Amino acid sequence: MNLQKNDQVQVTITDYTSEGAGIGKVDGYPLFVKDAVIGDTVIAGITKIKKNYAFARLVSVVTPSPDRVSPRCTFHRQCGGCQMQAMSYPAQLAFKESKIRNNLVRIGGFEPDFIDSVMEPIIGMEDPFRYRNKAQYPVGTDREGNLITGFYAGRTHDIIANTDCRLGRECNRIILETVLAWMRECKVPAYDEKTGQGLVRHVLIREGFHTGEIMVCLVINGEKLPCANLFAERLRELPQIGERIVSICLNYNKENTNVILGREGQVLFGRGYITDTLGGISFRISPLSFYQVNPVQTEKLYGTALEYAGLTGEETVWDLYCGIGTISLFLSQKAKQVYGVEIVPQAIEDAKQNAALNGIANAQFFVGKAEEVLPEKYEKENIYADVIVVDPPRKGCDEKCLETMVKMAPKRIVYVSCDSATLARDLKYLCENGYEVKKVRGVDQFCHTVHVETVVLLSRA
Ligand code: SAH
Repeated sequence: MNLQKNDQVQVTITDYTSEGAGIGKVDGYPLFVKDAVIGDTVIAGITKIKKNYAFARLVSVVTPSPDRVSPRCTFHRQCGGCQMQAMSYPAQLAFKESKIRNNLVRIGGFEPDFIDSVMEPIIGMEDPFRYRNKAQYPVGTDREGNLITGFYAGRTHDIIANTDCRLGRECNRIILETVLAWMRECKVPAYDEKTGQGLVRHVLIREGFHTGEIMVCLVINGEKLPCANLFAERLRELPQIGERIVSICLNYNKENTNVILGREGQVLFGRGYITDTLGGISFRISPLSFYQVNPVQTEKLYGTALEYAGLTGEETVWDLYCGIGTISLFLSQKAKQVYGVEIVPQAIEDAKQNAALNGIANAQFFVGKAEEVLPEKYEKENIYADVIVVDPPRKGCDEKCLETMVKMAPKRIVYVSCDSATLARDLKYLCENGYEVKKVRGVDQFCHTVHVETVVLLSRA
């Protein structure tokens, strides 16, 4: 291919990369065009040439895709958080479903007809906006020195002022504007990454969708906040929102780092956590805990996993990669006994507390790697499972873990996955070792992004 940097070519988009750029081919040579939608014919300007592909930017749309819509957020191209906001929601869902299907066929080696026979329709959202229960906004200054908060422009640390991300809650805007007004009033400086000077780095807001409880956590470059009482007062006096703020806290982060939160902090008002419920179970969420960001879809995801687990109340269940025990506690209501395994000690602490908080006595938790804890327990204690649920990170399950699962020979395995490529690889292994795929279902947890969750039910053949 004789393309050069800055050349402009016409290309039709047929797919997305895993980062959400449109893919189109020119004489068989793939171009990755950011901001283009599947079905668009566009003029693309080449920005970077590699041996087997090139990167390009969207110069203009020649013929828009029938699925192209006007995005709600005016910043969506600069931000890069929503790679697919210019595509209609039904088309996004269809794309995600075909992504799962293609991976199962290509990587998993399953027949297309077979996948079609086991695949249930993807679960989307009725209203795919305002779904995130957590927001982290950087604070800084613009060129004129005015305080701003918003988001980092793609791949940079320049802040673009925008207090109203459409994926976040409406109350975020009012809270953020209150924080900025208080900073101006008390002359509290924003942190400057370049010099390491200044104080306020980020505002973290979390909201419990069921309880309505709100946490505001200010991440500061130090351990003391001037006018702290006034800060809490300004937030608490906000009409409608103030009464829902049950936690105002500080988090100390004095490191020169991209990591948003430091390890230590302090409560300024109320408690150090909010509570929320999922499927009737209460969870404590502190600033540092991992908690699924889309609670509406999480209930559907866990509901699907629970349905696939087919519990009658007699089963022993292992929940591998259990985090703070959300799936484990969900399952414990319908199982005889649940065992959770998770690598992060703090998460296991939370899991135990959450079990106690809900009076759940039939769930037990272990810290460690699934691929170490499970084989060790299997060899030493000959542990047993009727059902095994796994929910690994993107890289999928370690082979040692899969091998032990097969030896334990549960009747059913429920695989919850955030990456259908590694899912397909692991299903191939399980199906070569005595299991059959019975059901597959996508759940859209991250609307407007290219990511999708998948739940799979396997049975012993
Ligand atoms: N099921 C939970 C968490 C899923 S995220 C929920 O829905 O909230 C995946 C979890 O796997 C994370 O909590 C991560 O810390 C954990 N993890 C990563 N590698 C692991 C390993 N090798 N063994 C056990 N847990 C692991």
